[in-house]
Amino acid sequence: MTEDVITGYSVLAYSVCHREAWLVLRRFVPDRDNSYIELGKFLHQNSYSRKGVKEIELPGAKVDVIWQEGKCTIVGEIKKSSHSVKGARVQLLYYLKILKDLGIEAKGQIMIPKERKKIDIEFNEETSDEIEEIVEGLKELEKIETPPKPKWIAQCPKCGFSDFCWAGEE
Ligand code: SF4
Repeated sequence: MTEDVITGYSVLAYSVCHREAWLVLRRFVPDRDNSYIELGKFLHQNSYSRKGVKEIELPGAKVDVIWQEGKCTIVGEIKKSSHSVKGARVQLLYYLKILKDLGIEAKGQIMIPKERKKIDIEFNEETSDEIEEIVEGLKELEKIETPPKPKWIAQCPKCGFSDFCWAGEE
């Protein structure tokens, strides 16, 4: 297992659907024509444009926006709705772990422009353990040769792998 296949996206996917996480680890690409993904891209490009530097790439992380408040570095993750908060939270925690490993103490903020909502996220001992557990789970998942079977969940219609999982199903 190579740590470098683990990304913020795979951490997020693991918290929602292990099949999606397996596909992401194997570098399958979700359907970019999915309208929910299009909406996500639009919001990323058009929200918080004056907030800070946008779209920073680190190994395993594609940070939506990053800015400085006094001595504190804040990493923002832009989401379409509160439905994405669970995944966004662990994705941001993973980014905060990467930054901490690089010697940068940062805080996270989930930003939901359509709902005018912001949720602060802190990386501490407890959340660090939580991320370690997910990383270990991803390492185990990556060893499996075939993807876990699809299970219908609320996320499926919005998922970029929906056609792959459910084509031909009524
Ligand atoms: S469509 Fe559903 S089962 Fe398939 S990867 Fe996405 S969330 Fe998982």
